[in-house]
Amino acid sequence: MLPYATAAEAAAALGRAMTAAEAAWFGYSAAVPDRWLYCHNVPILLVVYTLAPLPLALLELRSTGDANASSLIHKYKLQPRVRLSPAAFLRCYLDTARVLLLSVGPLSLVSYPVAEMVGIRTGLPLPSVGEMAAQLVVYLLVEDYLGYWMHRLLHTKWGYDKIHHVHHEFTAPMGYAAPYAHWAEVLILGVPAFAGPAIVPCHMTTFWLWFVLRHIEAIDTHSGFSFPLNPTKFIPFYGGAEHHDYHHRVGGQSQSNFSTIFTFCDYLYGTDKGYRYHKASLGKEMIE
Ligand SMILES: [Zn+2]
Ligand SMILES: [Zn+2]
Repeated sequence: MLPYATAAEAAAALGRAMTAAEAAWFGYSAAVPDRWLYCHNVPILLVVYTLAPLPLALLELRSTGDANASSLIHKYKLQPRVRLSPAAFLRCYLDTARVLLLSVGPLSLVSYPVAEMVGIRTGLPLPSVGEMAAQLVVYLLVEDYLGYWMHRLLHTKWGYDKIHHVHHEFTAPMGYAAPYAHWAEVLILGVPAFAGPAIVPCHMTTFWLWFVLRHIEAIDTHSGFSFPLNPTKFIPFYGGAEHHDYHHRVGGQSQSNFSTIFTFCDYLYGTDKGYRYHKASLGKEMIE
């Protein structure tokens, strides 16, 4: 809730006229309690989860009955022999949406005091594009590093048997399988996602954008497709679908490719050896 009764008061406090974005933010958030603004993350997450994987899922399902293995879409599928049924897609979507609602929903309600304590702000001025971009880069790096170690811990025998095996049910993942996991894993992996904003506090709009970006990144990584013109291919050290697909393909025994955003942690800690060997063998096969 903003501490100004009118737009004129807000402009006076800023010492200048509000930008169009600030006027829109004022119009939307002035009378909404900060706790509810924070909880917007739950519907935002569900909308992103529902819509972002949909185009590829529809294309994949449309071509499932296509006996022609060289159909355009399957040319770019990382595991073209695996064809999931519409029922499998629907079960994954419904199970995940239920887990997200029942875990992230209550977590958002109780974690607001922490967000307030670390300094997630809702007021004016809005952050500049440069400030948002710099913070998002920091969040990606923090998430990548902490997420690497949490994922590695989830691959200990206890972590895998009790929690992480659920996420690995899909040995050939697709977008809807990105957050498909045990409820405890959804909560555990919230820690690296929240750590960045806790270290470098941001505006609520950046906080929302960060979670949208993080979910889209996870959906891309689990898409099961590697398109040559995917813009993420131009991001240095970005792992992408191919890198994480290998982790799912190898399954429970996988001690390779724990990173889910960049590739440098796996390189630094030597957990990409199997993957590099696999890629080198594929390269040799192509030459022969
Ligand atoms: Zn794993
Ligand atoms: Zn995964």
